[in-house]
Amino acid sequence: MNLVLMGLPGAGKGTQAEKIVAKYNIPHISTGDMFRAAMKEGTELGLKAKSFMDQGALVPDEVTIGIVRERLSKPDCEKGFLLDGFPRTVAQADALEHMLADLNKKIDFVINIDVDQSILMDRLTGRRICKSCGSTYHLVFNPPAKEGVCDRCGGELYQRADDNANTVQNRLDVNIKQTKPLLNFYEDKGYLRNINGQQDINVVFAEIEELLGVLN
Ligand SMILES: [Zn+2]
Repeated sequence: MNLVLMGLPGAGKGTQAEKIVAKYNIPHISTGDMFRAAMKEGTELGLKAKSFMDQGALVPDEVTIGIVRERLSKPDCEKGFLLDGFPRTVAQADALEHMLADLNKKIDFVINIDVDQSILMDRLTGRRICKSCGSTYHLVFNPPAKEGVCDRCGGELYQRADDNANTVQNRLDVNIKQTKPLLNFYEDKGYLRNINGQQDINVVFAEIEELLGVLN
């Protein structure tokens, strides 16, 4: 069960990743965790990555791909893996294809959690924080009893600059531009499966289970 998980910010990728790895007992391999582990272990590639990150520079593909290869070669990946946050570009996806072929593996599915942009905007701009006590609310998922007022202390609720519509729209635009070619690449390969992420979390997961059922 070799999987790549994709989805825009706010699509619910993290939640589904947790459910997938818990049910199928495969490692969740996120780029951040992978880098941190390689640096902690002090592998040659980990140290290389660290030297770039310490300078605030982007880690070059050859280093990133090397780290992914080391990670996918570990025994816990024999039954499968869930890649999250890698690949980010078509060049990386292409490198992953070659690497997996070398390791005698292949991707089974690229699962894309698909959610309309307008809904992502609602999800990503809905956070409100209390000025007095720091409690957090969400206009869609966890609204306060009275608009603009903290349930706990009566304080005023505000929106962080990071959560405002312009900032969020920019973040989505960058992500969409980056992932589009990748989705096309995987569609051409026949790996891509779009899952409707606009449903209840458990319904989304049930559809993923149905899809993965064919692999067992
Ligand atoms: Zn409060």
